[in-house]
Amino acid sequence: MLGLMQNWPLTVDKILDHAKNWHGDREIVSRSVEGPIVRSTYAQVHARAKQLSNALLSLGIKPGDRCATLAWNTGRHIEAWYGIMGIGAVCHTLNPRLFAEQLCYIINHAEDQVIFTDLTFLPVLQENRAKMPTVKHVVVLTDEAHMQPDVFPGALCYETLIGQQSADCIWGGFDEQTPAALCYTSGTTGNPKGVLYSHRSNFIHTLVTMGTDVMGISATDTVLPVVPMFHANAWGLAFSCSAAGAKLVMPGQKLDGASVYELLETEGVTFSAAVPTVWQMLLGHLRDNRLKLSTLKRVVIGGSAVPEALVRAFRDDYGVSVTHAWGMTETSPLGTLATPTGKTIKLDAEEQLRYTLKQGRPPVGIELKLVDDNGARLPHDGVTFGKLMVRGPFVVGQYFQGDGGVILDDEGYFDTGDVATIDPDGFMQITDRSKDVIKSGGEWISSIEIENIAVGHEKAALCAVIGAAHPKWDERPVLLVKLEAGQSASKEEFLSFLEGKIAKWWTPDDVVFVEDIPLGATGKIDKKLIRERMKDYVLPTAKATVSA
Ligand code: AMP
Repeated sequence: MLGLMQNWPLTVDKILDHAKNWHGDREIVSRSVEGPIVRSTYAQVHARAKQLSNALLSLGIKPGDRCATLAWNTGRHIEAWYGIMGIGAVCHTLNPRLFAEQLCYIINHAEDQVIFTDLTFLPVLQENRAKMPTVKHVVVLTDEAHMQPDVFPGALCYETLIGQQSADCIWGGFDEQTPAALCYTSGTTGNPKGVLYSHRSNFIHTLVTMGTDVMGISATDTVLPVVPMFHANAWGLAFSCSAAGAKLVMPGQKLDGASVYELLETEGVTFSAAVPTVWQMLLGHLRDNRLKLSTLKRVVIGGSAVPEALVRAFRDDYGVSVTHAWGMTETSPLGTLATPTGKTIKLDAEEQLRYTLKQGRPPVGIELKLVDDNGARLPHDGVTFGKLMVRGPFVVGQYFQGDGGVILDDEGYFDTGDVATIDPDGFMQITDRSKDVIKSGGEWISSIEIENIAVGHEKAALCAVIGAAHPKWDERPVLLVKLEAGQSASKEEFLSFLEGKIAKWWTPDDVVFVEDIPLGATGKIDKKLIRERMKDYVLPTAKATVSA
C-alpha cells in the first residue's frame, strides 16, 4: 500500500515560482561585473530566467544537456541557473579559480554545450577555445554596450539573446530525480570528480537548510552570499533565499573587505556566509578604518575551520553571532552546523564558544558515523578520532561518469576524507583531512587545531601546519607563518604563544616564516602545494637526531 498524498515532484523551478508568486517584489541587488549596482526583483528574475530557457531551447538544448556557468554571484547568474534547470538541462558551475588545464578537463568531462561567462573570463576561454570541442556556444553575461567582439569572436550577448525571447516557458514536469546541477570537487588529489545533484536532492537540501537550527533564513532577512555559486551552490543560498523570500545581495567579483562592507551597510544585510579568509579581510578593514556593523546579525562560516579569534571579534567587537558549518561539494554542501542545543544554550559564553568552534551537529537528513581503518564504528566520546562517514538524501551516491568506482560502504555511507571526533552531545569536530593529519610516534596530531590557535597571534596573517619527516617519530609538526604586513617575529614568540593551549607533544618542532601561504581554488590552504614547496626542508630536530 502507498500513501495517498499528492505526487508533487520536488523540482527546483518551483522554488523560483514560489518566490515570484509570493515575494515577487522582493529585491535581488547585484554589484555588476560592469561596475554599477543593479537592482532587480524575484518577479523580474523569474521572467528573465524563462526568457533564457526559451533561448536555450532555440539553441537546441535538450533535457540532460550540460550548460556551464563561469560567473561571479550576480542576478544574471541566478537567472542562468534557474533558466537552465527549469527545462531539465544541467547547470554546471565552473570554478574560475581553477587552472586553465583543469577547467578544460572539467568542461570536456562534463561535455558542456554552452558556457555562460562573465566578461572577466573571456580571455581564458579564448585562449583555450580549441580545447573545448563540445562547447557550441559561449554566451557573455552582459549587454551590447559591453560586448567585446574582438576578444571572443562568435560569442553571443546575453541581453540580446534573451531579449528576443518570450517569458512564457513551461518549466518542470519531469521526474524529481532528474539531474539539476553539476559541480566538480576541488581535486586536491587526482582529477576533479563531478557531483551531479538532482532536483530532489537540491529541494530537500533547501528545506533542511531553511530550518532555524540550520541557516534559519527568513523572509525578513537580507542575505549576502559571499560564498560563490560555483562552490557547492553558494551553500544552497540561491535556493533557500528564493524559497524564503529573502532579499538577496550579490557581491559580483569584489570580495575585498571594503567592497563587502559597503554592501553590508548600504543594503542593510542581516545574514551572510563565507569562508574564514573573507571574514578576516572584512575584519581587517573594519579595524583599520574604525568602522561598525549596523545591520549584520549572523554569519555562517565554513569551508575551513573557523579560528577562535574570528568568532571572538565578531561576537565581542561587532555583536554578530557566528555559526560554524561543515560540509563539502559531495553533501550539497551543508553537513553540520554548530548551532546551540537546549543544553549548550544554558552554558556561559566562554563554554558556548567551545561548541561554536566545533563543526557542529547534523540536521535531520544527515547521518554521521565515525569508523576506524577497518570500517568498525568508533564511540562518540568527543575524544576518539575516526574517519567521518556520511549518508542522506543530499549526499553523493556516485561520481559523474562513474569516476572513482564504488564510493559508499556496505551501509551506504560516503567517506568524507575528513578525520573527526563526535562528542556525546552530537557535536562533530574535524581534526584534519585524512591526508593532512600528522602521524607522530603512532599518535595523530591535528594540524588544523594548531593552525587555528597560532593564527590568533596578533602578528599572524595566516598559518599552516604540515608534518615533516622525522627519523624517530615518523613526522613532526612544522608551523608556517605569514606575518601581517610590516611585522617581524621570532620563532620563540610563536612557540610560547602556543604553550598551554595545545598538548606539549603537539608543539611544532620548528616555525618557518614565509612570504606566502598558498590558497587553492576554493580559498582553502593548499597543503599539497606547501608540501611540494617544502620538499627539501629538513627539521632541525631531525638533523639533531641523525647526528646524535
Ligand atoms: P569542498 O568540497 O571544496 O567544499 O571541500 C570540503 C572539505 O572542506 C571538507 O571535506 C573539509 O575537509 C573541509 N571543510 C569544510 N568545512 C570545514 C570546516 N568548518 N572546518 C574544517 N574543514 C572544513
